Amino acid sequence: MRRTKIIATLGPASNNEEVLSAMIDAGVDVVRLNFSHGSHESHINRANMVRKIAAIKNKTVGILVDLQGPKIRITKFKKGQVNLIAGDYFTLNGDLPVDDGDEKQVGHSFKTLSENIQKDNTIVLDDGRVVLKVIEVIGNKIKCIVTIGGELSDNKGLNKKGGGLKADALSAKDKEDMKIAAQINADFVAVSFVRDASDIKTTRKILKKLDCYACIVAKIERSEALDNIDEIMQATDIIMIARGDLGVEIGDAELPSVQKRLIHKARCFNKVAITATQMMESMIHNPIPTRAEVFDVANAVLDGTDAVMLSGETAVGCNPARVIAAMSSICKKAENQPKVTKSDHRIGSKFNQIDETIALSAMYAANHLGVAAIVALTESGTTALWMSRISSGRPIYALSHHRQTRRRVTLYRGVYPVDFPCDSINTFEANEKAVEIIKDAGIVEDGDKIIVTKGDLFGTQGGTNVMKILTI
Ligand code: PGA
Ligand code: MN
Repeated sequence: MRRTKIIATLGPASNNEEVLSAMIDAGVDVVRLNFSHGSHESHINRANMVRKIAAIKNKTVGILVDLQGPKIRITKFKKGQVNLIAGDYFTLNGDLPVDDGDEKQVGHSFKTLSENIQKDNTIVLDDGRVVLKVIEVIGNKIKCIVTIGGELSDNKGLNKKGGGLKADALSAKDKEDMKIAAQINADFVAVSFVRDASDIKTTRKILKKLDCYACIVAKIERSEALDNIDEIMQATDIIMIARGDLGVEIGDAELPSVQKRLIHKARCFNKVAITATQMMESMIHNPIPTRAEVFDVANAVLDGTDAVMLSGETAVGCNPARVIAAMSSICKKAENQPKVTKSDHRIGSKFNQIDETIALSAMYAANHLGVAAIVALTESGTTALWMSRISSGRPIYALSHHRQTRRRVTLYRGVYPVDFPCDSINTFEANEKAVEIIKDAGIVEDGDKIIVTKGDLFGTQGGTNVMKILTI
């Protein structure tokens, strides 16, 4: 079984039941609805389609709503595109009508851009394909010289190298989109271009008002976020290493070490990490990944990421299910490395809570006794989260009667959701019922040892206080 989870972005290439069905068969754990593109209606339809197919297949698939955030873009060109040549002058003109761009200038979507820009700043367009150096700012006109030339087409992204654009993480559109996230009962909501913890706290507040208790994903894609990483980690549930925009802001060469540092930090904060963007990029067009992509996915697994994410590969690629299958097999192979199944994480640290102590003791026992499975009877999924921060080769089954909990753990490395219908069960019956369910599911067989954790008071969050070792 694969421990690392796979997130796949939905788009035009994955917009019908047949493709979605193949993607779920290939092993997708969470689908991402990218609110930078598409209408509310299209997202609602996709969410319904995913839930319908998953239910038919008796699989648990989480839904992640990714808010657009203050993505800054150039506007349009008269001819759809231009070719910029290094050494030429080019102006970002905030006063230009939206479709009036040419070889000399183009408009942009960020009204106060020029207030955030100074002489000698570097502006990066289209994920680094075109680079400008600022020579003068006059009113709303930012006069630049092209340092790296190339083709530039409508609506491409605009970043300032080194960060420092004072844009709020939550736009008016994001606030509207959150209503849709609540309506479709999203399991995860991702906040783009997070600057600090307040962005996460505000999002949580707004979602709560909408009666939405989705886990929050902080997308780390601005240099400011790296400066404030500890407070962001504390406030969020999950981080995404959003290598696309982050690479543009801090330079690609910085990315590998930042990725390793952030994944490690997430684990220390008991938070979940997603590694994203261009993991299998060439498979948008090709039947197989490049060797560099194979290594990239495997290295993210070795770094300890919980999940790897696909963007264009499954949204606009030629064969979404094939990419998922390829990614899945790379993850599985990488997970065989001893580094992945053993760790001394938190070996010297103090525990603060009883449920935490039980969870981590269970992992210690599992790693030393050789059990077939760890079974956590869990209300909120927290016990399973703690467990999954410890590397082990053993599967962790999160048994819960809460559908939301089961969907939430779809992102936790090495954790698998199982339905536990248990209306009025007492703690003694719980063992028997748990064993029956995992036996029926073919997870264990007679003679296997398992570790079960649970609470004396059934149905109480944070009540885990028992660890039992059973022989089936
Ligand atoms: P995006 O975020 O795909 O929404 O831009 C991910 C990234 O920037 O890497
Ligand atoms: Mn981004």
